[in-house]
Amino acid sequence: MQTLTVLGASGSIGQSTLAVVRQHPEQFSLFALSAYRNVAAMVKDCVEFVPRYAVMVDEVAARDLRHELAQLGVNTQVLSGANALCEVAREPEVTTVMAAIVGAAGLLSTLAAVEAGKRVLLANKEALVMSGELFINSVHRYGAELLPIDSEHNAIFQCLPNTLQQNPGRGCLTDAGVSKILLTGSGGPFRYTPISELAAVTPAQAIAHPNWSMGPKISVDSATMMNKGLEYIEARWLFNAAPEQIQVLVHPQSVVHSMVQYSDGSVLAQLGQPDMMTPIAHALAYPNRIASGVAPLDFCTLSDLSFMAPDMGRYPCLKLAIDACASGQGATTALNAANEVAVAAFLAGQLGFMAIAEVNEAVMQQLGSTQVRHLDDIIAQDTRARDCATAEIRKR
Ligand code: NAD
Ligand code: MG
Repeated sequence: MQTLTVLGASGSIGQSTLAVVRQHPEQFSLFALSAYRNVAAMVKDCVEFVPRYAVMVDEVAARDLRHELAQLGVNTQVLSGANALCEVAREPEVTTVMAAIVGAAGLLSTLAAVEAGKRVLLANKEALVMSGELFINSVHRYGAELLPIDSEHNAIFQCLPNTLQQNPGRGCLTDAGVSKILLTGSGGPFRYTPISELAAVTPAQAIAHPNWSMGPKISVDSATMMNKGLEYIEARWLFNAAPEQIQVLVHPQSVVHSMVQYSDGSVLAQLGQPDMMTPIAHALAYPNRIASGVAPLDFCTLSDLSFMAPDMGRYPCLKLAIDACASGQGATTALNAANEVAVAAFLAGQLGFMAIAEVNEAVMQQLGSTQVRHLDDIIAQDTRARDCATAEIRKR
């Protein structure tokens, strides 16, 4: 029996996690759920799962949730504030933490789970992008178990030998016979849109992903391919990969979730429906397998599978991320923060789609060579980059 804390339970990954857990009540029990302020989602899930704790970051939402659960006679204690996220991640009873908060807001609670030596199911890629080396060092120092939820990284993990699976971020790909990680991405909703029309696309068009149903931030990141850029950085840390060992491929059908190429010419791939319940079920049950509720692939009805190199002119954010990865932690932290601010401004109708990359690039020019090492430096760099991005947005 695993005892779970689900950070970001009200989101897309959080809900998919609960959908898998629901199918296996004998294997998983819920200790805590968290949301920023979605009271309706939390009421529903607390009634169903009756976790020991529900955390609402927003104080007013916490009060409302407390009131509603009391009325319904649900025996869940409601905590509030960002510190409570860390508390429910490190409680001794918890075996497993699903880290599914979006963005830098998830960093401290994800690290709290790592430092408590939990089995950490990592969806919150931004936390690893911001803190890569420190994160991996903490996984080893505190004996945490790290399982990737991002579908590509989960696919790569499944295609790697057990020795590398057991040694996150520290194994040697070359010694294991791996020549390349092939990181696939759909290319987003604007893959075929003329570049001259991209400046005018709306948030509604950008979040309408052709293959995946996801939260708004990652959907915009998929449209700019910043998501693949963040995933490139994520792969660098998770698999201890050098730049020449990661190749990004556009694969419009999202059936092959990523691949590993070996020195003998073999390529191992993980395929499946574009449904996050598959990687979530994999990570929850690892090293065993459980049903996820996802329909099997039917190879007789699959369309062609195609692959191509990404056009960096169409996806400047992807190039910025690959360059930032080569520059180091200060650059990746700044890029992640700038991008969060730019995407939020785009979703609020305050910034054009193509200006997301312009803001990110301007911030990289100003802060991309800053060196960071410790958590305090990372948080300071994140704050500087947010201020810098906000100033850049005001200029436009
Ligand atoms: P989402 O927007 O649907 O959900 C985000 C969750 O984070 C919600 O529960 C929300 O309440 C919580 N949250 C937001 N701001 C917060 C804050 N300041 N403090 C605390 N909690 C806060 O996002 P999502 O699509 O579920 O993505 C979650 C993470 O998983 C992201 O890092 C994303 O990149 C990653 N991921 C998502 C998918 C997917 O299919 N959705 C796939 C791969 C990776
Ligand atoms: Mg992904």
